Parts: sequence; structure tokens; C-alpha cells
Amino acid sequence: MLSGYESVGHCLTVAPSINLAESLVRSRTVLQILHRWMAKLVVALAERRPANDESTEDLLKLSEARYQAVVENQTALICRLLPSGTLTFVNEAYCRYFGRSYDEMLSSSFIATVPEEDQADILAWLATCGVDQPLITHEHRAIRADGMVRWMQWTNQAILDENNVLVELQLVGCDITEQRHAEKALQDSEERYRRIVQTAQEGIWLIDLDYRTTFTNARITEMLGYPTEVMLGKSLLEFMDKAWHAVIVANLERCRTGIAGQSDCRLKRKDGGKIWALCSTNPIMDGDGRYTGTLLMMIDITARKRMEESLRRLSTQDPLTGLINRRHFFKRAHQEFERSRRYGRPLALLMLDIDHFKHINDTYGHPTGDEVLRIVSRIMRDKLRRVDLLARYGGEEFVMLLPETTLLTAMNIAGRLCAALAAEPIPTEHGVVSLTASIGVAALTDYADQTFIQLLSWADQAMYRAKQAGRNQVQSRVTAD
Ligand code: GH3
Ligand code: MG
Ligand code: MG
Repeated sequence: MLSGYESVGHCLTVAPSINLAESLVRSRTVLQILHRWMAKLVVALAERRPANDESTEDLLKLSEARYQAVVENQTALICRLLPSGTLTFVNEAYCRYFGRSYDEMLSSSFIATVPEEDQADILAWLATCGVDQPLITHEHRAIRADGMVRWMQWTNQAILDENNVLVELQLVGCDITEQRHAEKALQDSEERYRRIVQTAQEGIWLIDLDYRTTFTNARITEMLGYPTEVMLGKSLLEFMDKAWHAVIVANLERCRTGIAGQSDCRLKRKDGGKIWALCSTNPIMDGDGRYTGTLLMMIDITARKRMEESLRRLSTQDPLTGLINRRHFFKRAHQEFERSRRYGRPLALLMLDIDHFKHINDTYGHPTGDEVLRIVSRIMRDKLRRVDLLARYGGEEFVMLLPETTLLTAMNIAGRLCAALAAEPIPTEHGVVSLTASIGVAALTDYADQTFIQLLSWADQAMYRAKQAGRNQVQSRVTAD
């Protein structure tokens, strides 16, 4: 029978450092044990009847003293009150907490320690306790004697009479101010991080071990056009251009070993468009260092890629004709020249200048002259092979490098080109324009000493000779020059 008492004794030794919620739970446990123990005591006393009245009285006194000691030694606040709120009992901890004597407390109402604006709510809460809800919990603010406003958590138990009418309420409470502050600080911190993530300029994308989407922020939705709920559970690869799967999968696999990575990739938008993204892959490890997924940070670099592409084009391409420009021609032609020389392969160079182009400009205007240059470029391109390099060398001068082509073959090609230009009517806004061109041809002959610049200069000289000889013709370099 005294085992309950031993349990009670155990509870009383609880260290003051245990947290408040735990202490509350334990206080309630103590009361339950006490109730059970008292019930057993009454049963035991009844069983012993008729007993020596004196010893029964002693036992009752002893039990009451123990019960009181337990209640008074509680760190939890314990009180009893009438349904109206008037206190009928408070324990020592209650008096200490609110800085008032037992007698002062007993003449007051439970809600006297509650801020005025909360009192109506507290009364409403007390009224909810009864036969249907014999045990309820509640949190509210309370004012201590020193004026400090603290947060309390109460467990409210209905004490009912034999007709199930509420006669009293028994409350066990504890101060949860620090806990509330900690919760609030956590909420604030979570809210702060949530805002950072949702307003970040970078797309933030979380995936699990199987690359399935577990989170995306608002920026990802902006970038791809898919709301988060549509993306959840879907593989990252579903939203990625196939050509980039291998690169990204390699990075994700490295993440499994804890290594972060970065690479460009192409993402597929909901509207069918594609965007470029710089994608960083960062492993997410749990507390035991196990890989649980990847945090991907996506930066939209589509504009930058377009800019790079247009710069690259500008640096290699002639904007009027779309042919490669003189500078890029030199770079590529040098490589081709070196290759032909090293392997002793034939190589020819053609220099073409349109005859009397000034006249075309003067007659039809400069814009029409531009249009003519574009069409002439197209005609030349069509007459050459894919391996041949065609470039706009200057104004209305063009240069062609023909790999694996002897001087004789190059002369034939140049002749056909010359004839085609002379024969082809060029339609413009101002009517059909006819023109001719003069072409100089040179070929690689001396594999030991010849340079690319020499080859170029021979073709140039040959072209001038064609001009001098009456234009609309092809000339090659004469060895004697
Ligand atoms: P030829 O070569 O037969 O001796 O006579 P030409 O009239 O063609 O003389 P030249 O080659 O010296 O003159 C080239 C002209 O081409 C001069 C210039 O006004 C014109 N030109 C150069 N670049 C452009 C261009 O981008 N657009 C237009 N419309 N004309 C250009
Ligand atoms: Mg000319
Ligand atoms: Mg010229």
C-alpha cells in the first residue's frame, strides 16, 4: 500500500533543472498517484472496520500530512476554485509565485492575476470545463506581484459531485515564459529564413536521394512557370534538357560523397521555352553525416549566354553578310595553311573584288549596295563546299580558302564563279542589278618556304592583274612575279 507513497517520494526529489512542461506532467502524475493512494487508503480503512478508532484517526492524520507535504512541496502551482473563479485553495508555490499570502489569495479570484483584457477569455475557458470536458489545458498571461507579465500553462480538472454537477476546478500550472520565448525566437528565425528563401534572386530547389523534388522557392516558379505543388515529387531531370542530364547526374552523384559542384545547364519551361541556368549542387547531410538529398541553387544566365553568343558572333562574323570576318578568317586560314603545308596537301586561295561597285552605289544608293553585297555573298557560299572558308575581306572584296584544291581546280572554280556572278541577275528594291567580278587565284606550291601572307599577297596581285586586264575575269599568279 505504501508503494504509492514511495513513488510520491521519488517525484519530490525531481531536480529543479527539469524543464517546465516535464515538471507539469510530473505534477499531474503526483496528483493522480495521490488520488489513487488516498482511494486505496480509504478502502483499506473500510476493510479494517471495526478498527481501533484511535489508530484509524492516526492513519488519517498521517495521510493528510503526507498529502499536504506533497502538494506544498510542488514546484508546480496548484489551486482550487469555484466555477465563479473564487480561489478555495492555493499551494505554497502558488503564493510564492504571485507574491501573496495564502489568506490574501483565498479571498481573491483566480482571474485577479490575469491582465484585464484577458479576463473574459479566461472565464470563458473555465466555463468549458465540466462533465463533457473534465480535463482541459490552457495558456494565458498572468501578472506577478512585481508587475512582471508571464506566460502560464494550466491543466484544469473538473471536480464533479455525484450528479455530475461542477462544484470545483482544480488547476495545476507552471510558468512557460522562457519556453514561449524560445518558441517565438524559433518561429521568428524560421520566418526570417522562409522570407530569405522566398525572396532570393537564386532559384532554390531541394531534391531527395532519388532526385525527386521536395521543395522549390518562388524564383524557380518564375524561372520555369510551374507552381511548387506541380513540381513536388517529380524528378529534377524532368525539367532539364536531355543534353545536360549526364553532366547534372555526375554532379549529383558526387554530392552523395559530400562534394559540392557547379555547372551550366538548360532547363525546360512550362511554355516550351528553354533557359540557361548556372546550377550549384550542394549535398545535404543529416546529423550523422549521411547524405539525404541535394540543395540546388539555380541562377538564370540566359541573358548572359545570349550576350556571350552575340559577342562571339560579333567577334567572328561580318554583320552585313553573315560571313566570317577578316580577323576570324586569318585565324582559321592560318591553321588550314599549316595543316596543308605539314601534310604536303594542295591549298588554293581566291581573292574576289566586285567590278565598278562604286557605280552600283551611285546608281541605286548605298542600302541597295548593301543588299547586293548580301546576295553576292549567298551566291558565292552556294558555289563553294562546306570545307571552304569564305570571308568578307573588306568593302566589296571577298576571300576564299579552298583546302585540298590545286591551282588548276581553283582556276576552274573561280571561272565558274565569275561566270555565275556575271550571269545571275540580282533582284533588289530598285530593280535587277547586273554585276561582274575580278578574281585572283594563288596556290600553295613551295611547302618549305612559302607563308600564308605570301599566298595572300599573290592572290591579291593576281586580282589586280584581272582588273588591269579588263575585269570580269580570273587571273592566277605568274611564277615570274
Ligand atoms: P573596281 O573595283 O572595279 O576598280 O571599282 P570599284 O568601284 O569597285 O572600286 P573599289 O573596289 O575601289 O570601291 C569599292 C566601293 O565599295 C567603295 C565603297 O563605297 C563601296 N563599299 C565598300 N563597303 C561597302 C558597304 O559595306 N556597302 C556598300 N553599299 N558599299 C560599300
Ligand atoms: Mg571593286
Ligand atoms: Mg574594292
